[in-house]
Amino acid sequence: MMSALDTAVVRDLKSLYSSKGFEEKYTYTKAGLGAVCTWAGTEFTLWSPIASQVWLLLYKTGEDEQPYQKLVMAKGPQGTWKYCTKKNLHGVYYQYDLLMGQNHVITGDPYAKACGINGQKSMAVDLSKTDPKNWDLDQAPPRPAENIIYEIHIKEFSWDPAGGFPKDFRGKYKAFTCEHTSLNNDGIHATGLDYLKNLGITHVQLMPAFDYATVDERGEDSQFNWGYDPQNYNVPEGSYATDPSRGEVRIREFKEMIQSLHKNGFRVIMDVVYNHTYSLDSPLQKTVPWYYYRSRADGTGANGSACGNDIASERSMCARYILESVLYWAKEYHIDGFRFDLMGLLDTELMNTIQKNLDDAFGPGEKLIFGEPWSAGATPMENGHIPALKKNAKYLNAHVGMFCDNTRDAIKGHVFEGNEPGFVNGRSGLEEDILRSARAWCNTCVPVKAPSQVISYVSAHDNWTLWDKLFLATAPDSGLSVEKAYRLAAGIYMTCQGSLFMLSGEEFGRTKEGLENSYNAPIQINRLDWTQAWANKKLVDFYRGLIALRKQLPGLCDKTDKAYLRFKECFIRPMAAGYLLDNRLKDGSFCEGSRWDEIFVIYNSGIKARTFTLPEGTWEFLANSRDSFLWQTHETVKNNSITAAPQSFVILGLPGGMTANEMDLWKTRLAKSGTK
Ligand code: CA
Repeated sequence: MMSALDTAVVRDLKSLYSSKGFEEKYTYTKAGLGAVCTWAGTEFTLWSPIASQVWLLLYKTGEDEQPYQKLVMAKGPQGTWKYCTKKNLHGVYYQYDLLMGQNHVITGDPYAKACGINGQKSMAVDLSKTDPKNWDLDQAPPRPAENIIYEIHIKEFSWDPAGGFPKDFRGKYKAFTCEHTSLNNDGIHATGLDYLKNLGITHVQLMPAFDYATVDERGEDSQFNWGYDPQNYNVPEGSYATDPSRGEVRIREFKEMIQSLHKNGFRVIMDVVYNHTYSLDSPLQKTVPWYYYRSRADGTGANGSACGNDIASERSMCARYILESVLYWAKEYHIDGFRFDLMGLLDTELMNTIQKNLDDAFGPGEKLIFGEPWSAGATPMENGHIPALKKNAKYLNAHVGMFCDNTRDAIKGHVFEGNEPGFVNGRSGLEEDILRSARAWCNTCVPVKAPSQVISYVSAHDNWTLWDKLFLATAPDSGLSVEKAYRLAAGIYMTCQGSLFMLSGEEFGRTKEGLENSYNAPIQINRLDWTQAWANKKLVDFYRGLIALRKQLPGLCDKTDKAYLRFKECFIRPMAAGYLLDNRLKDGSFCEGSRWDEIFVIYNSGIKARTFTLPEGTWEFLANSRDSFLWQTHETVKNNSITAAPQSFVILGLPGGMTANEMDLWKTRLAKSGTK
């Protein structure tokens, strides 16, 4: 293995891989990289143009030290190596032995679809044998009026003993197949899937669920990590499986999880981390050194990820690798969307290609894709490729989304400066930014094409939870209330255009006891606290009402590039802002009807009440900071003026314009959305 210090060698490789000759001679375009295992036989194909010979090593288990067979692989076209047999090798573990110069390099398969415990040995898998019962009938629920994405870590979801999950399934994929769980098994207070259904979220976003390195799959249950350290991109993580040593088990259990989530009405988004790997000691690096990783002109490794290795997404075979991986998860595991970690380290061309391929394969807009439009540092992207950063949004297709840090920080304050408040807890001068947030920053200084490019949010797994942040940033002598700031923050982002996103537990005031980065903190701090979820029922109900209301507001759900034109009037006062919005149904909306032709929204973050005059008409109360279910009461505003209490918001609606048919549909949906 080459050390990171062999900079001269790295420089030579960089110029080799960047040359036209290499690109023409070694770009492999045929399908079938990895091990393809069916009833007809098994074919192994590895791409390694710089190996001088490759052997296939076969093992009986994923833990055997010695192979039971060593087979010579034949040289194929474009730098590939092949071994074919008529035998179905399902369940056989394997590695490659590559001769590089004088050295033998032993590695797992970068294209592995299954692996043994801790991912060091790959496994040939006949995928048809891993399908749970009725997998062919599995289908995602219909596309919702709005994307309301709920971010969950697989272990965090069910580890808390109070959640009532069976002991053997706690922290596992299998927990997602448990229906009707309840708090301490009391049969009354729903947890798990029923709780999420009740809340009304539409998408479950799984934090890293591909095989990652930092949790020992043989080790104690007390281990915890978020999992942003990829090891096998195309294999599910083993520590969430009931038996990580048998390669097919994690695959079947992952599929069972997806099947159950779909059945219970959720679409599933996967968090994918193609920008870096756990380390440079990876199958990608071992099979083609420094091809899949970026290096600087001086031969040192790139570090835009702050993890010591940046994936070179712009190189043909690397772009192919990432695209195929995404398509594989979508096809084989029925994943409905992808959240790209540090998307700013990938290039715009690749992101657009992924989006187009998903649209072509599954229908326009069927699969949601979005990512973090930033990186931890600069990265030496080659050949004029453009990083998928926020400033380059104009180069991204309108349906590649981005987390909106502008909205997040305007509402709650700077994400890294704990004590710095935002609009909701006393910082002045942010009124205009709050209105820009409502318009999903379209037609502003941020180069956003349409709300389809924007994820509006105030909490995610990174940084402080919303509760911890607002607690830190609200000065005790300010006269401001953390709880009011919290409800105002929710009221604001839920009335912003763009798709909505939240960290699990935001709806019950989740805390990590002030810990800013909990990526490897004990599970006790990270676990979803089901007792707290019920202790804070009032806040959960408040979120539930806002979510149900949001789905009835096509003016906010509009993802088209004309959506910002719906804002008919915007106004600001010191520490207050508001808008009048055209809420009528238009083409391209998934809302079934619109009860209100216009909505009027006021955000008041000041410590004094504020009164606003309303446009003509009989306005109905839809929600305010105390009650998010006012829209069920049809109570109207008197005197055409409205007062927003200190640190609060008000949402009003002007009824009208619904056909009888639309009204019936609307009532049907209303019945499904639950009551206060
Ligand atoms: Ca693992």
